Amino acid sequence: MSVQENLHKIKSELPAHVTLIAVSKTKPNELIKEAYSTGHRDFGENYVQELADKHAQLPDDIRWHFIGHLQSNKVKYIAPFVYLIHGVDSLKLLEEINKQGKKYNRVIHCLLQVYIANEETKFGLSFDECESILTSELLTKLENVKTCGFMAMATNTEDETQIRKEFKSLKDFQTQIQKIINLELPILSFGMSSDYKIAIEEGSTMVRIGSSIFGERNYNN
Ligand SMILES: *Cc1c(COP(=O)(O)O)cnc(C)c1O
Repeated sequence: MSVQENLHKIKSELPAHVTLIAVSKTKPNELIKEAYSTGHRDFGENYVQELADKHAQLPDDIRWHFIGHLQSNKVKYIAPFVYLIHGVDSLKLLEEINKQGKKYNRVIHCLLQVYIANEETKFGLSFDECESILTSELLTKLENVKTCGFMAMATNTEDETQIRKEFKSLKDFQTQIQKIINLELPILSFGMSSDYKIAIEEGSTMVRIGSSIFGERNYNN
């Protein structure tokens, strides 16, 4: 099936409140343009240099989501244009995003990346660490960042019960923390090609789908 057909099929399965991020990492601009030609505008990238290059080469009205692990010293390359940074995992990084946001006179929207999986390889904050960031005095002073919710990845497993339990733990945390801080953090970014249907059932509002749209990735290119 073509990129257009894949997109059309996935979109027909998504409830209206769920945003689809087409994850285009490692994929050429031609395939992104195919998706763009259907009216799709939300794309996700993991690597700063690749994102900066694609941003420079592709239409200006694309909403670029940074979904990878972001190092503080690279924030400056995406700060002028990034639409949403999904993988924030420290207050220090939020401070740097704030600094760069100020420079470009923007409020940069961010999600805190939470560690929910049963694996050692995944990045992210514990629920306690999220709470301490979200209740910190410093955060209220960062006027050029806005924390809008959470991002997570479930364990890479066939065990649906496990995946469901992990997503649910984040949904429950969101409900609790919103009461504690008395603010809405409405975005929940979870669900990928293999588990987005479960993710939506468990409260996802943003799914990040790559291979089911663009085909398998080949990292040797
Ligand atoms: C690559 C990636 C995705 C998309 O994965 P697929 O399995 O290809 O859908 C989603 N989220 C993150 C953080 C990724 O790195």
